[in-house]
Amino acid sequence: MPLEFLRQWRRTLWRQYVFGLRRYIPRGARRSIGWLYGSYVFCRISPIATRMLGPRYRRSRDRIDLDITWDCNLKCFHCNRSCQQAPTGEMMTVGQVRQFLEETRKREVCWKKIQLIGGEPTLHPDFEEMLHMMLEFRRRHSPGTEIMVTSNGFGVRVNQVLSRIPADVTVHNTQKSTRNQEDFIPFNLAPCDSPEYAHADFRNACCVTRDAGIGLTPYGYYPCVGSGAIDRIFGFDSGRKTLPGLEDGMEEDLTRFCSLCGFFRLNYTSEVCSGSLMSETWQRAYASWHERKPVLTRYPEL
Ligand code: SF4
Ligand code: SF4
Repeated sequence: MPLEFLRQWRRTLWRQYVFGLRRYIPRGARRSIGWLYGSYVFCRISPIATRMLGPRYRRSRDRIDLDITWDCNLKCFHCNRSCQQAPTGEMMTVGQVRQFLEETRKREVCWKKIQLIGGEPTLHPDFEEMLHMMLEFRRRHSPGTEIMVTSNGFGVRVNQVLSRIPADVTVHNTQKSTRNQEDFIPFNLAPCDSPEYAHADFRNACCVTRDAGIGLTPYGYYPCVGSGAIDRIFGFDSGRKTLPGLEDGMEEDLTRFCSLCGFFRLNYTSEVCSGSLMSETWQRAYASWHERKPVLTRYPEL
């Protein structure tokens, strides 16, 4: 128990550093911290360490993010849903949310947290209906589930919708006001484009799949919701159409998507997201997306 408590504290402190504090730390110190951390992780993600110790992060079994829309009114640089790099109006339907809740009920999954996110979720034309469905589901079947909405808090329309959200919903308002987000992680720097990750075991993933949980998008389930947004650009069409079982670590999906995702990179903690940070694989993928958008099969509706 004390050990678990210490682990939680370590995670919280590290998250505070990665997602906020590091931008106030002088560049030199930031680089040293990034180098030290990177050296440790570099050894930890090697195939041999992964075989001996198992993957560094495992996907959550009790947390899920739903990307209900990839539309957004802000279009930040380096958006990890590609809202700026490849804008789209693709979204989940009410029928898909109903199907998710029905699957959850039938499979008797007890979610600790269900998060509505995107894109900007409050811009979904059926956002309030979806939220109501979640609350009704919680009332009837899962009283311990936290329902959360993450919003950029930007603009009149978004704030009007936010003001109507019931008090028993957790609202994470990131209060963005500009497209420049210095504390973002350079999402479009694909590790597979760097020789230093040539031997990495990508099943090691990052803390997102453990802490935020798996993801559901219009195209199915993914080991994290960001990987669903990667799939909409690359078109692997690997979204699962049924909820993965508890025994399924989704390691094949992690291997595919983490090799493309800047969140996997070891030294991201030393970088601040400014300017154009996009590696070759992403440049090619966006060019191809703008030429012809991949067609993915949709998660079923009820
Ligand atoms: S507010 Fe969020 S979803 Fe919208 S563009 Fe910025 S990072 Fe992407
Ligand atoms: S795809 Fe990216 S965000 Fe998702 S688990 Fe892998 S490294 Fe983390």
